[in-house]
Amino acid sequence: MDKNHFDVIVLGGGPAGLTAGIYLGRSKAKTLILDTGMPGGQMVLTYKIANYPGVENISGYQLSSVMKKQAISFGCIIKSNIKLAALRLEGKQKEVELENGDVFSAPAVILATGGRSRMLNVPGEKEFKGRGISYCATCDGDFFQDKEIIVVGGGNSALEEAVALTKYAAKVTILHEFDHFQAFEHAVEEAKGNPKIDYIMEAHITEFQGDESLRSIKYKNLKTGKTDQKAIDGVFIFIGYQANTQALHGGPVELNQWNEIVTNENLQTNLEGVFAAGDCRAKHYRQITTAVSDGTIAALNALNFIQK
Ligand SMILES: Cc1cc2nc3c(=O)[nH]c(=O)nc-3n(C[C@H](O)[C@H](O)[C@H](O)COP(=O)(O)OP(=O)(O)OC[C@H]3O[C@@H](n4cnc5c(N)ncnc54)[C@H](O)[C@@H]3O)c2cc1C
Repeated sequence: MDKNHFDVIVLGGGPAGLTAGIYLGRSKAKTLILDTGMPGGQMVLTYKIANYPGVENISGYQLSSVMKKQAISFGCIIKSNIKLAALRLEGKQKEVELENGDVFSAPAVILATGGRSRMLNVPGEKEFKGRGISYCATCDGDFFQDKEIIVVGGGNSALEEAVALTKYAAKVTILHEFDHFQAFEHAVEEAKGNPKIDYIMEAHITEFQGDESLRSIKYKNLKTGKTDQKAIDGVFIFIGYQANTQALHGGPVELNQWNEIVTNENLQTNLEGVFAAGDCRAKHYRQITTAVSDGTIAALNALNFIQK
């Protein structure tokens, strides 16, 4: 049998892809997981995970390692740091071609390529990501009990998450580049009615500073051009989200206006035999638990599909 032919190919080895691998491998489906980075996905960026049921305060790296080990123990083959050359997803046998010339085929593919928060791209942001800078209030809010934090952004997510963060933080300052918000009126009103929320309008963060952890930001007033510094315990950035679907742009898989993969409730895309799971698909809540759930559903439906 062709060693490059599989029952299912999973693109992406985050929690969605690894869970799909666990279910597929355990059902004896010959499964290949391909990842452009390291398996674990965004979990690896997470210093501490406190909301994954059944484990208390595990690091993202540890949780990734256990999931990866589990997938391998059921026979999945995982290839990391691959470079995609072409995806051929129409037709009965789907093909994934890599830049090194390898071509893998399977009758079913699960797209689990995840996503990433938009970054400000200013000095110090990469360094303090996970050490004071967060992109997820649900994930990290409770690490900032009675602390002073900044929320960057002026859309619905920024305002809603700022209000949610007042449950933990002593003070939340919303820092936004314009003199008005681009959020729904009710979100603006709720934020404005919250006594713990303060504002820095028409400003940009220009640098994050600290030692082991974030300690302060430098920001520029866009009206006066003046630069200021502010001591701070944490910064939450909500300036948008991007699904990792660049490889699908202009292709046959249906994407919505935000380039997220459109699926039905079985997590099937518009192409037969092509499923999508986790943060790369169009959905509202993006968490490890929801990715794991998606991975399960996509794997079971892919198994059904190949058995038929
Ligand atoms: C800083 C941070 C903290 C977080 N904290 C928590 C938390 O505490 N609790 C919680 O529940 N959630 C948390 N989240 C959210 C959670 O990590 C994500 O919702 C979850 O990881 C999504 O899983 P996924 O498998 O869909 O995608 P991802 O985790 O994004 O994994 C996708 C994988 O696909 C790979 N990939 C990308 N493109 C391709 C391609 N073309 N081909 C092959 N592979 C590709 C990537 O390298 C990656 O490994 C956090 C997120 C961040 C950024």
